[in-house]
Amino acid sequence: MNITITYDKNYIFGGRKVPKKYIKKYENDLAFNLYSNHHISNIEWTNKELNKMFQIYGVNYTFYLINKKIDIYEEKFKKYNVHTKKELADFYKYFDKTKKEIKKYKLFKKLESIIRTKLPKNLTIFLYSENVHIGHTFGNIIHFGHTEDWKCYTIVYLAHEAIHALLNENNFKQDHISHAIIELCTDYHLRYLLSGYQTISIGHPYLTELRTKILPYFEKYLESTKDIFKFIEEMRNIFEIQQVAEKIKI
Ligand SMILES: [Zn+2]
Repeated sequence: MNITITYDKNYIFGGRKVPKKYIKKYENDLAFNLYSNHHISNIEWTNKELNKMFQIYGVNYTFYLINKKIDIYEEKFKKYNVHTKKELADFYKYFDKTKKEIKKYKLFKKLESIIRTKLPKNLTIFLYSENVHIGHTFGNIIHFGHTEDWKCYTIVYLAHEAIHALLNENNFKQDHISHAIIELCTDYHLRYLLSGYQTISIGHPYLTELRTKILPYFEKYLESTKDIFKFIEEMRNIFEIQQVAEKIKI
């Protein structure tokens, strides 16, 4: 398995530094959203806008037009896009710490022993400053940056995102049940293995009831030899679990 842990110098802080008034002013401009990286928080809208342009201009000309506009923004906001030495030093510290912890805890090996299957052959992790607070996975590319709210916070979430990447790679349906199981594998169990700390309340609040319902089955799963795919399928076939999942309005 090849894991690349990297960062994009322009996006360490989530996006170019642009004063708030401009973010509001250009909020409906696709090129601006891509430039400032605000598209990350609105990826559906971005895809829709991109597709609209593809229909009119084709893929290549669309990117030509967008890049031309991005260059203009680059020039216009250059003076704001400067980071202090302290901000950069803090980021590099976070970056090194995360890399070291992944190695020290043999993170992905441990995760593979929980899910009993191989993770994607190639996984790329883009780290951001801790203050950005993002966690997204597109295909097998993970974007992550979050304050270390507790021990091993970042690496547990990287494991969480790595399972999303695995399901993406296998075109495996992702729903509330698979998401709750990802949380049991990582936020609940892996966190315990790494830090000795365990609570069912960590994870998306809207999934807490579902996690709690699946927990007794998950404990049996840990003693079995099944892989995560089989376990998710099994849980989808249990009526009382379906019922809890269907109640979730997200
Ligand atoms: Zn998730």
